[in-house]
Amino acid sequence: MHLPHEPLPSPSLACILSNSLVLRQIAPYLPTASLFALAATSKYLRQLVHEAPDVIRHLDLSTVKSAIVSYEPLDSGGISWRAERMDESLTEDEFYSGPLRGIFSKLERRHMLRNVHTMVLDGLSVPADLVREIIAEDRFNVRILSIRETKHLNERKLQQVLRYAVRPSRPAGTPRIKGIYLFGPRDPAPAPNTPVEKKKSRQSSPARGVTSSQGAQIGAEWNQKSSSALNAALAKTDDKWYQSSGKMIAKRPSSDWAETLKACEGIIAFDAVLCRGPRHDPTTAFVQDPSTPSLPHPASYLNPAVATVALGPAGCEACHSCPESPAVFGLTPSSWLPLLSPVPLHSSSIRAAQMPRTLDGSKAPPLYVRCEDCLKGRWCERCHKWWGEDCYTGSTVAQRTELQQTEFMEDVESNGAKCVVPKQTTKVHMGLCVESCLVGEMEAGAGSNGMWG
Ligand SMILES: [Zn+2]
Ligand SMILES: [Zn+2]
Ligand SMILES: [Zn+2]
Repeated sequence: MHLPHEPLPSPSLACILSNSLVLRQIAPYLPTASLFALAATSKYLRQLVHEAPDVIRHLDLSTVKSAIVSYEPLDSGGISWRAERMDESLTEDEFYSGPLRGIFSKLERRHMLRNVHTMVLDGLSVPADLVREIIAEDRFNVRILSIRETKHLNERKLQQVLRYAVRPSRPAGTPRIKGIYLFGPRDPAPAPNTPVEKKKSRQSSPARGVTSSQGAQIGAEWNQKSSSALNAALAKTDDKWYQSSGKMIAKRPSSDWAETLKACEGIIAFDAVLCRGPRHDPTTAFVQDPSTPSLPHPASYLNPAVATVALGPAGCEACHSCPESPAVFGLTPSSWLPLLSPVPLHSSSIRAAQMPRTLDGSKAPPLYVRCEDCLKGRWCERCHKWWGEDCYTGSTVAQRTELQQTEFMEDVESNGAKCVVPKQTTKVHMGLCVESCLVGEMEAGAGSNGMWG
């Protein structure tokens, strides 16, 4: 019997981890290397780690040293790991996938590989052949794969691999893979928990722009912080795809990627979706307009494209919706929703990866995303207001090329006119809304060339 003030005996780590529920919750937070280091400390823990199927359900190899291909130069004797292995029988792909193949065969020998349902290979050397094996071979059982910012990944080959995996004649029950993180940036490393060091490293960083005074830096940082807080509050979520974040994907994906996403629709989800703007729909878009042969018609057909711009939860400035209607988690098809970052730790389902986490627990906000072509002349890159095709036909000015627009602006400026674009016809000019941002920019830039210089 315990007396009220007698402390309970403290349980050992092994005892805590032997509870499978606790282990399942904790394991994904531990770096894979730490997990195996822990396993090496006692026979009991080794058995626990190697035999509990849930322990490496989420396998993040992005920080594991032995998964990284070393690029050490040839040593004085001309012998290096690389040179030894670069014989004729080894292809380049085989060389770059060597470290990961080694880890996979180790895990396979311990009967652990098939337990991996979520695999994170961000930033590593991952040739397309290796992705093919992960998707196609029976020794793998991966549902969610993250290959963001990887090296030596041939995109064309990867597209072929994916199209083959989703071919209409594929065997039933394949592919096992349900989601791929590929287009977005990799998840940031957890923030250091010592604020003093964090502050120091920020101040010493040379890459923080031209503002050198501490006040200016604090101001800039505060602006950045308050604008992300405002964005999150408006969208009711921290998920960037649901905020008016603007361009979400640094490098615009090729049209081949758009075709690949179309082929994978409903089978494999990605951390990006196809733009559903009305101009991509061949049944509603104008194919050709003979009256304006030199300029594309504002509603002319556009090829499939990946949506790269997050427009926020408010919808079109005029009607607060959009012609294609927004995607809503739980209500619209899952293929309309991108996988969200970070990769979920405790689930390998597409539902968990697509579910936006609202700050107040309310229902999911609507998702408005578009490709850049659909937004040309109808989206302000500064304040992120935009107008849908139903509310604004766009202007011929917006259809001009950038050079034509600049010439047009110079013409008007030399006439001394300030209100250059008739408000009633043009809402967005050169990426800025005419109503507020363009006027503000021209006033600020008067005499100093501003953004036009
Ligand atoms: Zn509208
Ligand atoms: Zn589009
Ligand atoms: Zn604006």
